[in-house]
Amino acid sequence: MTIVDSMQNQVPFLTCDGFTNAGGVAHGFSTRLGGVSEGIYDSLNLGLYRGDEPERVEKNFRRFTAAIGADFEGLVLSNQVHGCAVRTITAADRGQGLRRPIWEADGLITDIPGVCLTIFTADCLPILLYDPVRRVVSAVHAGWRGTAMGIAGEAVKAMVERYGSCPGDILAAIGPGISLCCFETDEDVPNAMTEALGASALHHIEVRDSGKFHVDLKGMNALWLKKAGLSPDHIAVSDACTMCQHDRFWSHRYTRGQRGSQAAMIQLL
Ligand SMILES: [Zn+2]
Repeated sequence: MTIVDSMQNQVPFLTCDGFTNAGGVAHGFSTRLGGVSEGIYDSLNLGLYRGDEPERVEKNFRRFTAAIGADFEGLVLSNQVHGCAVRTITAADRGQGLRRPIWEADGLITDIPGVCLTIFTADCLPILLYDPVRRVVSAVHAGWRGTAMGIAGEAVKAMVERYGSCPGDILAAIGPGISLCCFETDEDVPNAMTEALGASALHHIEVRDSGKFHVDLKGMNALWLKKAGLSPDHIAVSDACTMCQHDRFWSHRYTRGQRGSQAAMIQLL
């Protein structure tokens, strides 16, 4: 499985060919291109609380959901807090739309068709999960804290425990995010990773002459997914680094926070 470039109605986005081939699901990772926002939000900003004009953000949501074949009316968002909670989205949550949710979660999970799970990133990793057998989907926001807490594995566990998924059936797509090349950290990040994942985390950490560390969050999350029982063939990883490709993606680090947001969405059809 790989992550591939797609385009619809002049809106570019990324998809996972494994999800598309399995069928029954709409999904996509947004870029910063193809929207109507201006200035520092130029152009596809999907962040609602970053200072952009709400009418433009709503237009961007309509453009993006239409491009990937999802329902604007089915959007369900969350307050992301760099935690590892995975919230089950029920029929009662459908229709929440762009209203700010009262609950906090960095992972969303559902088996209800028509609910469009949405998470936001700008360097942090977006991860989408799809079980085409039990028909369950999940969207996960994994920054370094969420990665150290194993939120990707928590989402798989939630699919298994709440909906009876077999880990071997689950497909995973890790989207664009800050990569090993650009994610420079102090020792707190690698320490948190090795504490959580043991020696296997060391394969995804580089020590630089400067005394700084470079950490591969994509590799760490793939590791969590494998530990949770996913087949390595069922994990697609985008090679796009949001900081290297800051003209194409929103990067929090590159813009020093003056930015819009990407979204990753997944919806059962
Ligand atoms: Zn980079």
